[in-house]
Amino acid sequence: MGDDELALLTAEDVRRLEPNVRCYGAIWSKTDTAVDYPAFTQALREEAERAGAKFLLGSEVESIDVAGDHLEIRLVREIATDRVYVDPRGKIRVNVALQDEPLPTRFLINAAGGHSIDIAHALGVGREYTDLHFRGEYWEVGPDWHYLCGRNIYTVPRHPELPFLDPHWIVRADGRREIGPNAVPVPGPYTYHGLFDDPAEAVQKLFERPVGNKLAALVNPDFLTLATEEWASSISKRAMAKRVQEFLPALRVKYLTRPGTAGVRAQVVDPHGNFVKEAIEIPGPHSFHVVNYNSPGATGSPAYTAWIVQLLAKAGHLDHLKAKAAKPAGLWDFDAVCAAIEAPYPCYCTFHPMMGGTIIVRGKGPRPPNDGGNYIPPSGVALPMKYRFYYTGIRVRNLNRSLAFYTKAIGMKVVNQGTMRHGGKYVQLVGAGSRQKLELNWYPAGSRFHSPYRKGEEMDHLAFVLADVRKAYRELIRKGAKPAVPPEDSEGTEVYLKDPDGIWIELLQ
Ligand SMILES: Cc1cc2nc3c(=O)[nH]c(=O)nc-3n(C[C@H](O)[C@H](O)[C@H](O)COP(=O)(O)OP(=O)(O)OC[C@H]3O[C@@H](n4cnc5c(N)ncnc54)[C@H](O)[C@@H]3O)c2cc1C
Repeated sequence: MGDDELALLTAEDVRRLEPNVRCYGAIWSKTDTAVDYPAFTQALREEAERAGAKFLLGSEVESIDVAGDHLEIRLVREIATDRVYVDPRGKIRVNVALQDEPLPTRFLINAAGGHSIDIAHALGVGREYTDLHFRGEYWEVGPDWHYLCGRNIYTVPRHPELPFLDPHWIVRADGRREIGPNAVPVPGPYTYHGLFDDPAEAVQKLFERPVGNKLAALVNPDFLTLATEEWASSISKRAMAKRVQEFLPALRVKYLTRPGTAGVRAQVVDPHGNFVKEAIEIPGPHSFHVVNYNSPGATGSPAYTAWIVQLLAKAGHLDHLKAKAAKPAGLWDFDAVCAAIEAPYPCYCTFHPMMGGTIIVRGKGPRPPNDGGNYIPPSGVALPMKYRFYYTGIRVRNLNRSLAFYTKAIGMKVVNQGTMRHGGKYVQLVGAGSRQKLELNWYPAGSRFHSPYRKGEEMDHLAFVLADVRKAYRELIRKGAKPAVPPEDSEGTEVYLKDPDGIWIELLQ
């Protein structure tokens, strides 16, 4: 495993590997594999139970209250009929057969999928976000036509800013072939069939607060057009097949023999009506909330979970669990996984053998954001040594005021935003018809970038992406640039210099 894991293929290369596939080119992941996920989760459960964990299956969290130094959790009564224990070490023993007794816990990790935002809201956090739900439907391809393609084929989404991926060709772990998913807007996280489970609940969901986020998303004409197409492919097998025929023209509607198992994605919408791409981690009272966990998906969830546990343990939130379970030897390399996630760039790490041996972990450290169509290749795919103009950053005194100006007065759209390690904030915007990005930068007092705002400080920096920032840094210094933040003082693969007039230049790797 390493540099040769990925290969760039031409259309001809693809045809040699998969004669029925038509495309302009492809990225081939040589260790791509399919996992029997029920078997995987069952194995995890058994491992966790051996380490002392107890599972409260069939119990639904109905409400949560802060009670001094702990939380009190109420489960849906009718289901909570058995004697159970919530704390893996048996420190907190709870009998939920007494239906009115709430479960006390010192710390809650909320990973409730389609309901996680509701649980976060119940504890007073993440209230600026809301969610919409999209059902992904599949069709099974009859065994006589499995020969059409032996590998997973994923197409490039036409609208990466919207949660609509075009249907793929999928090879399941048991050899079945499916096409899908589409992404049909549905009212709730468990609307696996039809349009409504409960029309009253659907209306309530549409108008739940904050209402503005959904309204902003729903007036986006691209969104409405694509949502209509997605509905068409839900109603018509032919419409679904047509989308796959774009890259697999030999597919026929009659090859689709029966519907596959659908899934529902809970997609978080921010106050600007944007669909948030990454998972959002939100600390709350005696709790930590993971919402919008769609990417890196089930495949990435073991690595992500290891990272969350390490994060919470480092912060002392798990100290009350005095007895530490021994890390199972051999299967999990927690430290390597967490280090890879902290890295400022995508990197590989060896992982669970059931997961195909190796995964690519998307680093969460500071890195050039991969959005707006700017492709940041994974490590192993060489970037040419050329300077690609990336964005212009300007320093602002009041982020909300500037954001309102650039979005409302100028009509730009937010494509990415975040918080820097030192507490500073950035928001990237694009205007109509251009990929040029403007980045608004705000730094709090105490940050090393905070300085009195005076005329001449408006221009914060210009950023360029290239393969080797250290080499480029030395090269530009030789050519007359002045140092600002040299590689040895940098937090990651980003360095700063000043141009002849003192304008800061950022180099990102
Ligand atoms: C159509 C579709 C296709 C996908 N394809 C892939 C793929 O090919 N590869 C991939 O890696 N990922 C894929 N994903 C993504 C993947 O399924 C999700 O990222 C993953 O399931 C999220 O895991 P989770 O544990 O966060 O949430 P979930 O899997 O939703 O689990 C949340 C759990 O919390 C429970 N829960 C919810 N509310 C409560 C409550 N109030 N009280 C108690 N329990 C509660 C639920 O019952 C559930 O068991 C796909 C998703 C969809 C929708």
